[in-house]
Amino acid sequence: MVPDAVILAGGLATRLGDLAAATPKCLMPVAGRPFVDHLLWDLRRHGVRRVVFAVGRLGEQVESHVGDGSAFGLQAVYSREESAMGTGGALALAAEHVTTDEALVLNGDSLFDVNYLDLAVRLRSAAAGSARAVIALREVEDASRYGSVRVAGGGDAADGDRRAVAAPTACVAAFDEKGVSGPGLVSGGVYCVQSSLLRSLPREPHSLETEVFPRLVVEGELYGAVYDGLFIDIGVPDSLELAQTAVAAWRRRPVAFLDRDGVLNVDVNYLHKPEQVVWLPGAIEAVRELNDAGYLVIVVTNQAGIGRGFYTESDFEVFTAWMAERLADAGAHVDAVYHCPHHPTEALPGWREDCECRKPRPGMFLRAIAEWDVDVERSFMVGDKPGDLEAARAAGIARGVLFTGGDLRDAVRPLMG
Ligand SMILES: [Mg+2]
Repeated sequence: MVPDAVILAGGLATRLGDLAAATPKCLMPVAGRPFVDHLLWDLRRHGVRRVVFAVGRLGEQVESHVGDGSAFGLQAVYSREESAMGTGGALALAAEHVTTDEALVLNGDSLFDVNYLDLAVRLRSAAAGSARAVIALREVEDASRYGSVRVAGGGDAADGDRRAVAAPTACVAAFDEKGVSGPGLVSGGVYCVQSSLLRSLPREPHSLETEVFPRLVVEGELYGAVYDGLFIDIGVPDSLELAQTAVAAWRRRPVAFLDRDGVLNVDVNYLHKPEQVVWLPGAIEAVRELNDAGYLVIVVTNQAGIGRGFYTESDFEVFTAWMAERLADAGAHVDAVYHCPHHPTEALPGWREDCECRKPRPGMFLRAIAEWDVDVERSFMVGDKPGDLEAARAAGIARGVLFTGGDLRDAVRPLMG
């Protein structure tokens, strides 16, 4: 299941001085837009649909910027504290707005490029369900600024994988050990927690990091998983400056464009129901590999069945959400799905159109390139029909492969890198 997210946005920018005296930290401008926009972009592309903002002083500015969340493709709701409640108290108040069994928790003033869905899978699987929270950990050169985290077995951070996805989920042996200098593991400010844990927190001022987590350590219920993606904390002026270029570079990505039918699943005519789905070998795993290698995965699919009246746009959206949940169960996600509902001759009135979006025309690709910051040179297309590749080429995506069967990973891997 794709979890709801809670963003702790109540922090005051005390270390940023005049710069932020009248601005919540999460609204500080980074790479041309308020910082929170990047967090919402990252959550949405992982499939998160609902975000609870825990806001305090200056919270009305966050509400006025994010609104109901529709501009970001998700639903935003607000949990307002009357007086400073600390991170634990803020989460206790936010808990009633969470609708899923697990919740992602993010600090509103830091960004850690983590596969959020992988973190949720780890929470479910760690120690056969005894884990109540999993922390996303980051290896840093000097842990003393943050307070380090020690994991049972010593941790296995430096295994060289780009995002250390192979690193085991390890029980946390100590949290927030101060004064440990030199390289070490620190909390990246991203957690996946059982929602029941949030609901059990006292609705009074307390700290998640210095009170709740240490208690979980004693009970053996706190776990950590190591990731090595971009980690940036805008709470101090130096790193705020660094974030300007780092975040812009992080958002620019190559895209793996994938056709749906015949690439992800067996091509059944006018597929639109879960019971019709047979995933192709290696399809889910290939998406996951692309996610972890930093590609955007964008599905481009002709859906003339909508125009022909065989199923509705709404059926298509429900079905797409179902596929996203199956992918999420494996820690994988599709960043966006573009579809063409038209047909030039066979569709019903209103849908009968010689459109620019139906492959082999490039409309869906051009829209994706306009809406995402795409590294076109490194992008590629995987389709099962020549028209898929023709459409991609017409949009400037020169690289691609015709997938004719076998394991999707074998088709995708040579194109990566
Ligand atoms: Mg196809």
